[in-house]
Amino acid sequence: MIAALDINVQKVEKSKLKSLSLDNIPFGKFFTDHMLEADYEEGEWKNIEIKPYQPLLLDPSTAALHYGQSIFEGIKAYKDERGEAFIFRPYDNYRRFNLSAKRMQMPEVPEDVFIEGLRLLVELDKDWIPNKEDHSLYIRPFMFSNDPIIGVKPSEKYKFMILLSPTGPYYNKPMRIYVEEKYTRAAPGGIGFAKAAGNYGASMLATAEAKQKGYDQVLWTDAFEHKYVQEIGTMNVFFIIGDTAYTPSLEEGTILTGVTRESAITLLQEMGFKVEQRRISVDDLMDAHQAGALFEVFGTGTAATITLIKELRYKDYVMEFDTDKWQTAPELKKRLNDIRYSKTEDRHSWMFKV
Ligand SMILES: *Cc1c(COP(=O)(O)O)cnc(C)c1O
Repeated sequence: MIAALDINVQKVEKSKLKSLSLDNIPFGKFFTDHMLEADYEEGEWKNIEIKPYQPLLLDPSTAALHYGQSIFEGIKAYKDERGEAFIFRPYDNYRRFNLSAKRMQMPEVPEDVFIEGLRLLVELDKDWIPNKEDHSLYIRPFMFSNDPIIGVKPSEKYKFMILLSPTGPYYNKPMRIYVEEKYTRAAPGGIGFAKAAGNYGASMLATAEAKQKGYDQVLWTDAFEHKYVQEIGTMNVFFIIGDTAYTPSLEEGTILTGVTRESAITLLQEMGFKVEQRRISVDDLMDAHQAGALFEVFGTGTAATITLIKELRYKDYVMEFDTDKWQTAPELKKRLNDIRYSKTEDRHSWMFKV
């Protein structure tokens, strides 16, 4: 595609793949033979290389470890029945990555480094894409500040990297969700729309406390009143009420613009739903539930695709659902997977051929 890009490729002598079974692999634990690494120094990206997966040697004063200038992405590659590899909507992740970079006062990564780097890396480790239903190759681009200086300021050096991790079926059981009223994930003016590492660190205590109460995840609410819903754990959230699908709107900058969210909006419209992006209060949900019109609640994200919610708890009010009877979320998941595994026509050109 972009011939001018100079990527130095150093291959492994022997693949680790031979000694590994790709059956029942836990998420994010195994990595392929190669990784991409690039350095930002003196205002430009250099030393772009694909090399054997290996540890990093970092100075203990590396700025990212102290001040958290660190962002990432999550993308998936799939194989069709003929063994051709495709990446799902990588340009959307590329654009989002640079929005995150801008918010965190980090340099943008050029399109050819991100997209062509990604394509080359996946091509090289193509044999690692499991050729099975519900399996895929998880792609993790990330960037962190790399100045060996503990003064609080934006770094002058950054490292951009891409790792690949084969993933098995994500047997995501329907979840029980606790509506969070004490902790906050994102506030207007903050970094909620950025895929910043710190967002995850800041969410773990709330999730741990919800787990102690017997719940799987929290439904985040707004920072001021804990009244308007934002996201479920690290997924975007949808509510089917009557013939309309609702999902929180993006204008406050407190919602991560999920690629799965965008895809779900398109597919739900094709399925005949009206889709409304707006403010949604917990009161709205309880009213709809009492009226018998809150039919389905589900989360969307790259890792698990669609996750059904079987219980939502707000204070002492419990909303329970019989997910076995649901039609919409399962149909949406099927349509999305049919596109990803090339079982249906890719009418939106979401699949990027490796
Ligand atoms: C990554 C992420 C999502 C899902 O985004 P996708 O692009 O669909 O994977 C949703 N919410 C948060 C907080 C995330 O970090």
